[in-house]
Amino acid sequence: AKELGKNNFQFFSPELNERVHKQLDMEGYLRHAVDRNELRLEYLPIVNATTGEINSIEALLRWDNPELGRVFPDVFIPLAESTGLIVPIGDWVLETACQHLKKIHDAGWSNLKVSVNISGRQLERNTLVGTVKNALESSGLMPSSLILEITESLLMKNMKATRAILQELRSLGLGISIDDFGTGYSSLNSLMILPIDTLKIDKSFILEVTSNSQNLSLVQGIILIGHNLNLQVVAEGVENLEQANLLNTNGCDELQGYYFSKPLPLESLLDRLENTRGF
Ligand code: C2E
Ligand code: CA
Ligand code: CA
Ligand code: CA
Repeated sequence: AKELGKNNFQFFSPELNERVHKQLDMEGYLRHAVDRNELRLEYLPIVNATTGEINSIEALLRWDNPELGRVFPDVFIPLAESTGLIVPIGDWVLETACQHLKKIHDAGWSNLKVSVNISGRQLERNTLVGTVKNALESSGLMPSSLILEITESLLMKNMKATRAILQELRSLGLGISIDDFGTGYSSLNSLMILPIDTLKIDKSFILEVTSNSQNLSLVQGIILIGHNLNLQVVAEGVENLEQANLLNTNGCDELQGYYFSKPLPLESLLDRLENTRGF
């Protein structure tokens, strides 16, 4: 009884109260983030594992709110998903990423592609294909410049519907990538059923790839399976040269992570491209 009393007390603690309020505030603020121009995109380079040349960039959402400060997507994306706000926000991301890539193309890097994270909630709505078409048309980008990253765990919910939408998107000419590969459920099953181009090995597998032989075996296995199914294989979360070399030796096609670059605002990315002529 004493314990329960303690818990009850904790339930009404000012600290938790404050947290609940913050959560409610956050939802309110997020609702206006698009109109109030608080969202921005940063870009994480994805490089050819052998040459180090930059092939594409992954768009990562950032939210700077005057009250809350910088909020990272791991915090607000789940909230955006549970409230449905991910749909207008996701539309904004697609539009903006395509417009930014057009600027990059016009500045002279016309082979670069942009990879955009898509939430399962966006896939569930039948508006995604229209949004993608609009974003491509209004930016003037070729569909082959766009890659959509889908998280594996979200694909499993409704495999048949997911497959149909992905097929429709892919018939437009864009690429489909499975994100965080290895962390979801029926991984291998999804590889056979879904129309995809690329596998992204989750960064949790890369973290100890140079120090843990079981980890390395898993990564080698994923690369082999990917290649046998004619997929490109990308490793994310590459933080040092040793990891980069090991992944390249084992045939991984592309790498991304802090070793190559932190996520950069468009202007910094353009500067960096200019200064290094493609890293
Ligand atoms: P993700 O798609 O797996 O993105 C990779 C995350 O790993 C990013 O975190 C990136 O900054 C971070 N990262 C990159 N390189 C390294 C590295 O070398 N080491 C470590 N430890 N981390 C690295 P971020 O930007 O905080 O994004 C977190 C997640 O939020 C993303 O994971 C993605 O699932 C989601 N997200 C981000 N932007 C969007 C978006 O526009 N739409 C949707 N639906 N989800 C998004
Ligand atoms: Ca991603
Ligand atoms: Ca990922
Ligand atoms: Ca992730």
